Amino acid sequence: MRAGLPDFRLGSVLATSFTGTLSERHGNAVERIPTPQRLVDWLAVNGLTVDSCTTAQLELARELRESIHAAATAAAVHDALPASAIQIINDCSIRGRAAAVLTPEGSRQWRLGSAAGVEDALSVIAADAISIIAGERDGKLALCASPTCRAAFFDTSQSRTRRWCDMNTCGNRQKKARFNANRRKDGTAARTGVN
Ligand SMILES: [Zn+2]
Repeated sequence: MRAGLPDFRLGSVLATSFTGTLSERHGNAVERIPTPQRLVDWLAVNGLTVDSCTTAQLELARELRESIHAAATAAAVHDALPASAIQIINDCSIRGRAAAVLTPEGSRQWRLGSAAGVEDALSVIAADAISIIAGERDGKLALCASPTCRAAFFDTSQSRTRRWCDMNTCGNRQKKARFNANRRKDGTAARTGVN
């Protein structure tokens, strides 16, 4: 972790973890990859190690991020996918070089082209987004119930009824808000110290 910089929120789905690097889009937005180095850090944590990142590459990454967010949001509410978002996702998917490799333990890893660049890493993220938006994977795109968040997330729960992008942040906040509201309603109990 780097001092003074926002933490990463890590999920199990690459594409929506990536869109989560900008959180609270409808509130006080938090940019979690504010510098090129921070994008390098995020990619490393997600198994996509690159040597360096320029300001222009960070811009490109953010452009891809917002395109995935726009397309995933449209898919979640069954709207038409925005053409400009599709274009950017596809451009990023085509531009980079990466190959899936099998580990001895039987899991899939991504190997980026030699002299791995940010574009190679972004192609993996774009391909991940495509597989989710295309409905290829077991799960459902949904929007976070928090009005200041509304992040698109991939619900892989059995019942497909997950409400929040992240239980530890949005889910917890909502629970606390409900708890406080109940306490206020139940003023008598609070005054007599029953709570
Ligand atoms: Zn959320």
